[in-house]
Amino acid sequence: MSKLTLLLFSAVSLCSIFFAGCNSSEKKNGNTAYLEGNNKKGGLFGRHGEGPRLRNPNFSIQVDPNLARSLTYSRIKTQAPFIAMTFDDGPHPVYTPRLLDILKARNIKATFFVVGTNTRRYPGIIRRMIAEGHEVGNHTVNHKYLSRISVEQARAEVMGCERAIIAACGVRPTILRPPGGHINNQVKVWLNREFGYSTIMWAVDPEDWKRPGSGVVAQRIITETDPGEIVLAHDIHGPTIAAMPRALDGLLSKGYRFVTVSQLISLERRKLADIETPKENLHNSDYSKKSLALFSD
Ligand SMILES: [Zn+2]
Repeated sequence: MSKLTLLLFSAVSLCSIFFAGCNSSEKKNGNTAYLEGNNKKGGLFGRHGEGPRLRNPNFSIQVDPNLARSLTYSRIKTQAPFIAMTFDDGPHPVYTPRLLDILKARNIKATFFVVGTNTRRYPGIIRRMIAEGHEVGNHTVNHKYLSRISVEQARAEVMGCERAIIAACGVRPTILRPPGGHINNQVKVWLNREFGYSTIMWAVDPEDWKRPGSGVVAQRIITETDPGEIVLAHDIHGPTIAAMPRALDGLLSKGYRFVTVSQLISLERRKLADIETPKENLHNSDYSKKSLALFSD
């Protein structure tokens, strides 16, 4: 059944790409160096201001703070095309606002796992994230590996970042991503019992921090993401930001819809049929009908 759905998905995606007028030269460059920064006319981030072709639909997915959550997530089980983009280690004074512009132009809501030191330095960026519908999660004060420090140190790291986020935007985070992915079950249980956090890992890792080039980062994200998955990236690297227009448009054209991590988690616990159907079509009515059929699985 899931394979059938994915097949339908792929067929729809191909149609979508066709209708979107994707030209052959773009396809030829697909696996190599798509760098918007190479666009002389548009400056470092090329299409800035030009307006993307695709927009993420509006969803009203309420997050119930009292809903019991699992200890940890890297994906949810679903055949519907919902995914969550996550960005770690910021906010960065230049790259993060640029990324927020890219997300805003596509109506995409993402999740930012911020570090406390940067949060204290740039609280205005945290406020902007919240004002524009993104989710902010805890990534410790100093990017410390939680499974390698004492409980006292870990507590100071977690609480310090939480306080910095609350001071910046007034919203208490409910999710945490362990720096470096260093965590064990004991720490996950502790984070949940003491702070109520779910530990958020990832299903897709383009290894953007190794700086393989924007084209590679975008291509990995587009080809490796499946329904229900959480995608990892970092908003402190220029090439990662440069990869985002292509990565996000690629996922949108495949029919994926973006939600925050907490929205994704709450979707797992609801019947997909209950989800408010998007009013706007991504491309055309045929596509919309087919994609809506996915919800009734
Ligand atoms: Zn990190």
